Amino acid sequence: GGLTTLTDEVIEELRERVHCPVLAPDDPGFDGIREVFNAMHPGDPALVISCFGTADVRDAVTFARDNGLVVSVRGGGHSIAGLSASDSCMLIDLAPMHAVQVDPAARLARVQGGAVWADVDRETQAYGLAVPGGVVSDTGVAGLTLGGGYGWLRRKYGLSCDHLVAAEVVGADGQVRVASSTENTDLLWALRGGGGNFGVVTWFTFALEEVGPTVAFAGTFYPVEEAADVLRGWRNYVAVAPDEVTASCLTITMPADPELPPAVHNRACIVVGGVYSGDAATGMDILAPLRELGTPLLDMSQPMPYIAVQQGFDAFFPRNTLQAYWKSRYLSSLSDEAIDFVAARAAARPSPVTLVNLFHMGGAIAAVPPDATAFAQRSSPFLLSIDGNWTDPADNEANIAWVRETFRLSAQFGDDGVYLNFTGRSDEPADVAVSSAFGANLRRLASIKAKYDPDNVFRSNNNITPVAT
Ligand code: FAD
Repeated sequence: GGLTTLTDEVIEELRERVHCPVLAPDDPGFDGIREVFNAMHPGDPALVISCFGTADVRDAVTFARDNGLVVSVRGGGHSIAGLSASDSCMLIDLAPMHAVQVDPAARLARVQGGAVWADVDRETQAYGLAVPGGVVSDTGVAGLTLGGGYGWLRRKYGLSCDHLVAAEVVGADGQVRVASSTENTDLLWALRGGGGNFGVVTWFTFALEEVGPTVAFAGTFYPVEEAADVLRGWRNYVAVAPDEVTASCLTITMPADPELPPAVHNRACIVVGGVYSGDAATGMDILAPLRELGTPLLDMSQPMPYIAVQQGFDAFFPRNTLQAYWKSRYLSSLSDEAIDFVAARAAARPSPVTLVNLFHMGGAIAAVPPDATAFAQRSSPFLLSIDGNWTDPADNEANIAWVRETFRLSAQFGDDGVYLNFTGRSDEPADVAVSSAFGANLRRLASIKAKYDPDNVFRSNNNITPVAT
């Protein structure tokens, strides 16, 4: 196999068979199609196929196998580690497959494998329904769900993968399978958190929750100098908050945007965000303490359309613009020492758009037993995520070193494993991160991997080594 077999003639045969564009490196549009969120990892595919449907995906997988090409699968292209495009690969781009079909009576949504959360939110909110997704609307449904999925509804309703009730999957053998509670149940279990290891998901079926259309939102910006106090107040608040409240903190330096008040221009801020799942007026009252944790520079808290909340942070994450290297760690507690550490690192960020985030977990996430789905880490109350983002590739080394150092030092505050969806390209053997994330579920995942992908065709992901049992 290998590139030697990839002649114009075989590419032409593929083009005749499929119903969608197939682009080689010299074709117009090839470079544009390579663009992903992390400008550090555009990948250098040998061929890109932008699939229109399940049949195109099936032909693409078969073609890649016949021609010895590594398969890379791209949903929304938001992988921080650059997992959705490897070099010299056959890139299966699912962007054209972004249909969403809502069945309000059955409370189900069918979502195609290349949809982003904006697609899902728009269609489901037309019925006052939602699938818990991520907090940036152009993140892919596929990668986020297959790797877990935390958003603003997580404490009330749980993870995105907890809402996955069925999937259509193109396997390594080119066969199309359905995974559900009655068919290929082991595959469904694995897809709920096990990543892209088991095939290309062409359709997701999600259970829907009633949300909005208006929700209570708190978004208050405090000076980063107050971070230690703000975080103490936040910790004390979330310790007793009901499951309806999902709250996070992040530090960022705001741009001198004329649409923003001058008080935050070029100002490093700690932003406290919260959403209440339930009646909006009640929610504003319950969220009120989050707005009084320090001296607000800007307070955007108000009842808002759920769709606006979902798009509220999009401007910070433009596609193909930032170099990104992230690391995350679950924390079993948030001591005063941990808070002082987070505040000090937050004040010393090397780039204005580098974020130091704390996410509050628990609630519905923790109500699911750790072996009920592939997603194992459900008991930690907090996740610390160090999101290094910057623009100049000349600064890569310094910024990556800073994220690694912050991550390394944070281990002293309790090491409960990592969230693979918030993990940059590994500086450790990949298995270290994978085993820390899956824990006791790894053995079962390895055996399901051996059943559905014994040759590890799908390896451009947080890879699980197939082990037959
Ligand atoms: P891609 O880069 O397309 O793919 C990621 C992985 O999934 C790759 O291994 C790929 O091969 C595989 N994959 C993609 N599509 C399929 C498919 N259809 N079938 C099988 N495998 C597939 N995470 C959260 O939990 N909550 C958040 O709020 C959140 N916000 C984020 C905001 C930004 C700006 C970014 C960059 C990331 C965010 N993430 C969040 C992390 C996010 O979950 C991961 O980056 C995730 O991988 C993105 O999915 P994607 O489809 O866009 O990624």
